[in-house]
Amino acid sequence: MKFIKLFGHLITILVLTVLTQVGGLIWVLTLLISFKFRKKKRFVFPFLYLAFNILIIPPIAKNFGREQLPIFNDYLKPKNWVYPLFFRNYVTSDLKKVLKDSAKNLKSSNISITYLDANFPFYNGFPLLPHLSHNDGKKIDISFMYTDKYGKSTNKKPSVSGYGAFVSSKNKTAEYCLNKGYWQYDYTKYVTFGIINDLKFDKSKTSLLIEELSNSRLTQKIFIEPYLKASLNLKNETKIRFHGCGAVRHDDHIHLQIK
Ligand SMILES: [Zn+2]
Repeated sequence: MKFIKLFGHLITILVLTVLTQVGGLIWVLTLLISFKFRKKKRFVFPFLYLAFNILIIPPIAKNFGREQLPIFNDYLKPKNWVYPLFFRNYVTSDLKKVLKDSAKNLKSSNISITYLDANFPFYNGFPLLPHLSHNDGKKIDISFMYTDKYGKSTNKKPSVSGYGAFVSSKNKTAEYCLNKGYWQYDYTKYVTFGIINDLKFDKSKTSLLIEELSNSRLTQKIFIEPYLKASLNLKNETKIRFHGCGAVRHDDHIHLQIK
């Protein structure tokens, strides 16, 4: 019985660490506190978790060079509350500045930047799975722009997670990569967590958004599917690129990384 309990705790720590980086440590603290003060774990954990998420981790991470992105800002915000709650919205100060400056410049075009997975708060080399490269604070995924069924610009996105709602089902690159055996290339279609169907891809605003991000001096690469790069008429050959078959499809979001 004791062994099963211990095993359960180890699995909990592992899962929390993979999903949130610091959640595993919060579980260990929960065990210690609930043991010492004879309090129930289900009361201690949510309290500790929120305290760490909102009050404790942001200033410590800042000391180590990573900052949390805004959560309630109209022009730079997460796709949903899971990203900040799971500690997945940390970036270097440079990347935060690029995003804030771009958001400011895009305001006049009524475009707001909606971010998805960024990085965890600590330690270069600790990947934010499943994105192996999101491990140094310099990478972030960003949603495209869409219109509603009346053609009006909206900040809604077609999938709940922000991933997996592809602009077109016809994607020659995806076909090529899947045929070559890169089975993971379109697996994000399984992680939409629900789709809103009546949104349309907004070519002109998405193109403005990408141009703005690529104009930043610090921007190193922006990944997007080749067919979208062509149809959006994106000309920056050095920065706006194809990510290769080893990644996943980028016709549901872009990946931005800075120097
Ligand atoms: Zn990415």
